[in-house]
Order: sequence, then C-alpha cells, then structure tokens
Amino acid sequence: MPLLTRRSTALERRTMVLSSPPPEPQSKTSPSLSSPRRTGLLEACTNPGCGSGWLHLWRSRSAPLIEGGWTCSAACTAERLKAAVARELDGRGTAVEKHRHRIPLGLLMLEQGWITSSQLRGALQGQRDNGAGRLGHWLVAREGVSEQLVTRALGLQWSCPVLPLASHDPEGLAPLLPRLFLDAFGALPLRIAAGKLLYLGFEDRLDPILALALERISGLRVESGLVQGSLFQPAHTRMLQAAFPSVELLEAASEPALVRALARRVEHVRPVESRLVRVHDCLWLRMWSRPQTGPLPELSSVQDVICTIAGS
Ligand SMILES: [Zn+2]
Repeated sequence: MPLLTRRSTALERRTMVLSSPPPEPQSKTSPSLSSPRRTGLLEACTNPGCGSGWLHLWRSRSAPLIEGGWTCSAACTAERLKAAVARELDGRGTAVEKHRHRIPLGLLMLEQGWITSSQLRGALQGQRDNGAGRLGHWLVAREGVSEQLVTRALGLQWSCPVLPLASHDPEGLAPLLPRLFLDAFGALPLRIAAGKLLYLGFEDRLDPILALALERISGLRVESGLVQGSLFQPAHTRMLQAAFPSVELLEAASEPALVRALARRVEHVRPVESRLVRVHDCLWLRMWSRPQTGPLPELSSVQDVICTIAGS
C-alpha cells in the first residue's frame, strides 16, 4: 500500500477513535456472538497494561478477540489470557462445588410412600451383595419399583425437573461442547428452546459446574434436569458418535507455561471470539473462527482446547 494512502487511512482511523465514545465497561454477561461488532482498528486494546499507545492503530489486525475484547499484539493476548487463567483458577472450590447434603434416595422414596421398607432393605442388600450399582438401579432391578418413580425421586432429591427426550438431535447439538465432557461428566444436551435456553440432561446426578461452564461459553441459559436412565443411555451413546468440534488436549507444566501455550493458539487461530472457563480440573478455551448465525455453534467454525496443569 502506498505510504500516503496508508498514512491518511491511519489518520482517519485515529480521528474515528478520538471521536468515538469511550469503551463500555466490561460487562459480566457474554457479548452476543451472533451480532459481532466491527472491532479491531477502531477499538482500544483490551489489555489494561497495553503499552503500545497509538502504535496499535497501525497494526492491521482485527482479531483475535478474547471475551469480546480485541488485543493489539501477541504480548497483549498473553496478558489477557494470563488474567483469564488466574481468574478461573482462583475460582476453584467455589460454593457451587461444595457438597450439599441431600436426603438419601431410599429415605426420600420411603417418606413419599413410593416404596416399602422391605423394598428399601432389599435394594440395599442387592447393592451390598454386588458391591456396585446405585440404589435406584436395585430398586428397579430387584424390587420391581418403576423407573419413572425412581427418576421422579431423583428429581426431588436434586430439586430439578425430569426432562423429556423428545425429538433429540444429537448431530445438531454436538457442537455445543467437547465430546470429552459429554463422556466424562455424563451430560446430554437435549434441546434449545426459544433460541436462548438449553436443556441439559443427566442420568442420576446434576453437574452444576459443567452447566455453568456451558452457560458462560454458549451465552445460553442452561436448565439442568434428569432424564430417565433407559432413555438417557441410548441417546447418550448415540450422541457420542456424532461429529464434535476439533479439540486439542494440552497439559502444561505450570500456569505461565499454560498461558504461553494458550496465547500461541489464540494468536495462530485469530478467532473472532474466544472464551475461557474452568470445568472441574481443567480449563476449556473455545475459539470461534467466524461470527455465528444462530444459538448453536457451527461445527466447522469452533475449536476447543482443553487444558490442565500437570500435578494440579
Ligand atoms: Zn495492546
């Protein structure tokens, strides 16, 4: 590009920057991915410690974006990710993870008059004799209690709804999360309602940490519930066979090494958006290479990195 043109463009840009309103404070809610703002040269770098001043106006890059904010250089990308990683790791052991006392399933069902004490004793015996299986399983298998009733009791135990599994579309829902999470945490995305609510099913216990992570990544409100086991299992197996977004597993030796590795990925992909959340013992970085057109991510435009710090 001729110097003159380039210079005038830069001046124009600077004028626009000066006349544009100050950036809004970072909001807690995720910016919408479906209506991307034109970002980059007209915006300030979102690394609070950015030292490039006006220099970044000459840098011709409009990506990457990290949690809705543009960074002007690889160094600023690393700083933003460092802050995000520290934030997520600090959140370890938050209230959501603390063990909440739940009424034992057997007692709950006994109280409701849904089973007799002899059925409860029989199921406990079955569990002891076999050294395996949840109580609900033995109530059904050995005592002939209906599975619907056990699921209903689990719903009471977890204070959550029992969700139906009608018109399940595993292929369409698979881009929502890495296959590994579906497998490891026994979750099953069920459907999206009104373009903003995701129903997330579990077989016998909820995973509020995964639900929260999914909410923060997808921008959808996640409603967790239980699905009757005999319906859940085949649907879960079917969904595991669907096509999931590409994923990279990363184990770093330390937090700084992790930040460096993530920054390299982000600088390489230059996503139009990227978000980092913690899911149990790992961090999940999702990168979108194109603006999205609907509530469900497009399979080919998202990439996941799942990372852990060795020995943590
Ligand atoms: Zn910067």
